[in-house]
Amino acid sequence: MYDVIVVGAGPCGCTAARTLAEKGLSVLLAERCRLPRYKSCSGVLIRKSMELVRRFFGEDVPAAAACAPADNRGMVFTDDKGRSFLFEQEGLNVWRSSFDHWLAEKAKEQGAQLLDGTAAVSCGEKGEYVSVTLRGEGVFAENAKYVLDCEGCIGALKRRLTGGERDYITTYQTFNDGAIDLDPHYFYAYLQPELSEYDAWFNVKDDRLVLGVAVKDTNKIRDYYERFLAYMRANHGLRIDAQLREERWLMPRVRPGCPVDYGRGRVLFAGEAAGFLNPMGEGISAGMESGFLAACAIAGHLDDPAAALAEYREATRLLKSYMERQWSLVAGMAAAFREME
Ligand SMILES: Cc1cc2nc3c(=O)[nH]c(=O)nc-3n(C[C@H](O)[C@H](O)[C@H](O)COP(=O)(O)OP(=O)(O)OC[C@H]3O[C@@H](n4cnc5c(N)ncnc54)[C@H](O)[C@@H]3O)c2cc1C
Repeated sequence: MYDVIVVGAGPCGCTAARTLAEKGLSVLLAERCRLPRYKSCSGVLIRKSMELVRRFFGEDVPAAAACAPADNRGMVFTDDKGRSFLFEQEGLNVWRSSFDHWLAEKAKEQGAQLLDGTAAVSCGEKGEYVSVTLRGEGVFAENAKYVLDCEGCIGALKRRLTGGERDYITTYQTFNDGAIDLDPHYFYAYLQPELSEYDAWFNVKDDRLVLGVAVKDTNKIRDYYERFLAYMRANHGLRIDAQLREERWLMPRVRPGCPVDYGRGRVLFAGEAAGFLNPMGEGISAGMESGFLAACAIAGHLDDPAAALAEYREATRLLKSYMERQWSLVAGMAAAFREME
């Protein structure tokens, strides 16, 4: 019997597992993939994410997790009228595989038991505890007073528990050899409706040019991507010598009012699984913060799930209103985001 089973070793789950272990609770951190696992991501840690790492993990992100150029200097947004806005801020450019692996090791170092290659497939409350069925090398069950579900966007466990609506945006990005006349220290987001159904973006990772588009309708990926490439050729001298990789991923589609699902009974949700995500897909800081706050609420009410849920909801009010304000800011730049106001 654990105090808490944390599902998913992303930034949210690792922060939660480390926090719970630090408070003296017995924690199992179950991760579906073998670590280090790949996660499609631009890998920009904004200043807030770097501060949260320092606060929750007691040190800075190691240099080994960074990719070139390591320092991100901010974002350049181009609005739906083609006007550019520069938001300067120090940040870090990381590979998620290395960053998340480091976070998981830090949770383990604190005392959390880490089981990678092990997926939580279902769970059910049995009076004073929750029984979780896990599938790794075999299928087995573990019990805990709480489950903290930090599965990210595609939560199989959450879907089973809630009946699960599927409301996603598909991201498509490619890694390329080539050249462009943009400063590689910035992340560029393009909000023109002719380039994507959400946003299109450019950034650099280990000298690879990363170009991506986000769509609601996957049949439109190719069309938008080609238009985005043409735009970048015409406006920024993009030249692609070789496409090295392409990948598709999912991101939750955030709805007006930024609804959050906090959990049911002894199963709490945090990070993307709960709906914590900032505009343009910045979700690492919201993942870490919500994971920390959920962990504190559980630790404070180990035998009272209703009180834990109420405290968690209250503690994340500021984070939620920050998300709402951020969405309003982006809504001011592009019609596609106006429904968020
Ligand atoms: C293309 C793209 C670019 C992005 N760029 C950025 C960026 O630059 N900066 C930023 O801050 N955010 C970015 N994001 C968003 C960011 O990746 C997520 O918001 C963030 O990873 C959410 O953290 P999390 O811990 O909630 O979930 P995740 O990081 O998704 O972690 C969830 C973990 O749970 C595991 N898991 C899932 N199901 C189970 C299960 N049933 N049992 C056990 N384990 C399970 C998964 O394997 C995964 O390791 C981007 C997203 C996309 C798609």
